[in-house]
Amino acid sequence: MIHDIEPRIFDNNFKNKTAEPKDLFLSYEGDTVLVREEKDKLWYPSFSDFEAEYPQLIDGAQFLFTIDDINYYLIEEKGLDSVEGWTYVTTGRFRTEPKYWRSFAGAVGLQLNRWYDNHRFCSKCGKTVKRSEKERMLYCEACGFQTYPVISPCVIVAVHDGDRLLLTKYAGREYTRYALVAGFAEIGESLEQAVRREVKEEVGLDVKNIRFYKSQPWPFTDTILAGFYAELDGDDTITIQEDELALGIWMKREDIPPEELKISLTGEMMEAFRTGNAGGIYDLE
Ligand SMILES: [Zn+2]
Repeated sequence: MIHDIEPRIFDNNFKNKTAEPKDLFLSYEGDTVLVREEKDKLWYPSFSDFEAEYPQLIDGAQFLFTIDDINYYLIEEKGLDSVEGWTYVTTGRFRTEPKYWRSFAGAVGLQLNRWYDNHRFCSKCGKTVKRSEKERMLYCEACGFQTYPVISPCVIVAVHDGDRLLLTKYAGREYTRYALVAGFAEIGESLEQAVRREVKEEVGLDVKNIRFYKSQPWPFTDTILAGFYAELDGDDTITIQEDELALGIWMKREDIPPEELKISLTGEMMEAFRTGNAGGIYDLE
């Protein structure tokens, strides 16, 4: 999965650290990120790459995180593709890059960029907020309100019945590959209750033997995904929720298309079912 970057180590401990020329930075413009033009991988710039044209860039940089001994910073300046050799490419590349540590760095940076960008003012009194020097937190000097990055819990459910897996396709989205039942946990609800509710809402089925598989941070939507396998309980007639799904079908494991890039938890769970490697979580008998 995209966050599985071993042997590299992602360290998101906040540091109030001044950037140095060798440190890397992430620059976003909408849904694009600045990378080296001639590289087909996501090659992020260092401050020294921009020292000549943008000597002040380093001063306003916000520390983000570290991967091994490489520090990543966020900068707000736009239009840096004016410097020869650098270009903005779609962040969709984060979903296709086989070197997960590069795409994960870019995706987490994008999430933090979105957070800083969407929280410029205090949501309680409307004054401009300041960045804490001690932790990843924004605060309001006028009223004392503090705000931290918000992460929403979401469940992914692999509903199975013997050797059949329930696959879906989303309605009205660009993403047209097979997916699993998925949805946000609501206020006042446990993850297990969210599993039952989402399965009932999206495909009209009841489930039993709900078993947790793995979780995954999913920076693209500010979510933490919790993956579950759940067994069909009773009638197998699928009734799809048409505003959410375009398709809901039972597919035999041998017919499930192989997943090459297992970037998402959904992809890994489908592949684990297909190959029978879900750690004994489901029983095919
Ligand atoms: Zn305030």
